[in-house]
Amino acid sequence: MAFTKKTVRDVDVDGKRVLCRVDFNVPIKDGVVGDTTRIKAALPTIKYLVEHNARVILMSHLGRPKGDGPEPELSLKPVAEKLAEMSGLPVQFVPDTYGDEAKAAVDALQPGHILVLENVRFDRREKKNEPEIGERLASFGDIFVLDAFGTAHRAQGSVVGPAKYIPAVAGFLLEKEVDTLTSIFADPERPFVAIVGGSKVSSKIGVLDHLIDSADTLIIGGGMAYTFFLAKGYSVGTSLKEEDWVDRAKEMLEKAEKKGVKILLPIDNVVADHFGEDATGEVVESDKIPDDRMGMDIGPKTVALFDEAIKSSKTVFWNGPMGVFEMDQFAKGTEAVARAVADSDCTSIIGGGDSVAAINKFHLANKMSWISTGGGASMELVEGKALPGVEALLDA
Ligand code: ADP
Ligand code: MG
Repeated sequence: MAFTKKTVRDVDVDGKRVLCRVDFNVPIKDGVVGDTTRIKAALPTIKYLVEHNARVILMSHLGRPKGDGPEPELSLKPVAEKLAEMSGLPVQFVPDTYGDEAKAAVDALQPGHILVLENVRFDRREKKNEPEIGERLASFGDIFVLDAFGTAHRAQGSVVGPAKYIPAVAGFLLEKEVDTLTSIFADPERPFVAIVGGSKVSSKIGVLDHLIDSADTLIIGGGMAYTFFLAKGYSVGTSLKEEDWVDRAKEMLEKAEKKGVKILLPIDNVVADHFGEDATGEVVESDKIPDDRMGMDIGPKTVALFDEAIKSSKTVFWNGPMGVFEMDQFAKGTEAVARAVADSDCTSIIGGGDSVAAINKFHLANKMSWISTGGGASMELVEGKALPGVEALLDA
């Protein structure tokens, strides 16, 4: 499935005021930007607009302000400075989003220059998608560009609003994300191995259902594996489990069997007597988890089993860590699986906030084919849902 919306390539931006919603929701502490992945991901569109002589007006949210006005620690000013440093382009910042000061800065903006507006969420009407937000922002631009993939699943003022008033097209990041995350499910090169982990079955039901429909093999690890163990009749000790979802897990196992989809569950586990930094692990088989132990990671036999499936795959989609990777003693399973994916020749697509954090922790990001910048948005795409931000754009 190709991307079906107009992009910046399809419009004339020369001399125009181009209002661009980006995702600059980066980690920030004491005014210092931490991880710059999201700024880097927005650069291709920004550079293209500058090279094509547009007046570029950037807007984003940052963190979770209350919505009652400016909160200095959540200002986009340091992000604008970082952008200037990373891009070498002329970047200005205005400490206003919807008011007269923002308007004046927009009016003074020269072609080929960039203006960053203040955090769109300092006004609570943004999240509520009040019509005047979209209308006001639209009045700053001749063209609207959505490149904020990470918030494209949220129908909020700066994401969907301007599209009602001015021509709205996609930026390169949005295009690439949507294209990548939809085409692998539409027409994956097979065998297609999907790996799902993380904490809960309940939060990934839609994803699991969709993966059973498209993958040849579904690998299940992480905390959610224990609910599947219950479905198979194993006892799981004090492991993370969701009793209410056991029947649903059973249904999924049955559906997979009917469809000929192979499900791989852990055959051994690293268990501990409590959840904590000081906990130590021991390896037990999946049907022998003691009553007073909890599963924290997949075991070495499981790593070998998963590794074999990954090695013979042509496409891998991965969401959710295999264990409590935040604690080094329980990170081995996630790391081993990440290395197996990195070392295989397959097309590898990674989605999900914690999964991406894990890949970064092991410095394997550059060995993956695509790492999605959007956690929630990528999951909604994988579930087959349409993203409101994308829906609002002009059809190609
Ligand atoms: P993602 O953000 O990639 O979609 P999730 O949010 O679903 O992933 O899950 C990530 C969390 O799951 C991590 O914080 C990790 O510690 C936790 N987790 C993984 N395995 C286990 C386990 N066996 N027990 C408890 N928590 C786990
Ligand atoms: Mg998460």
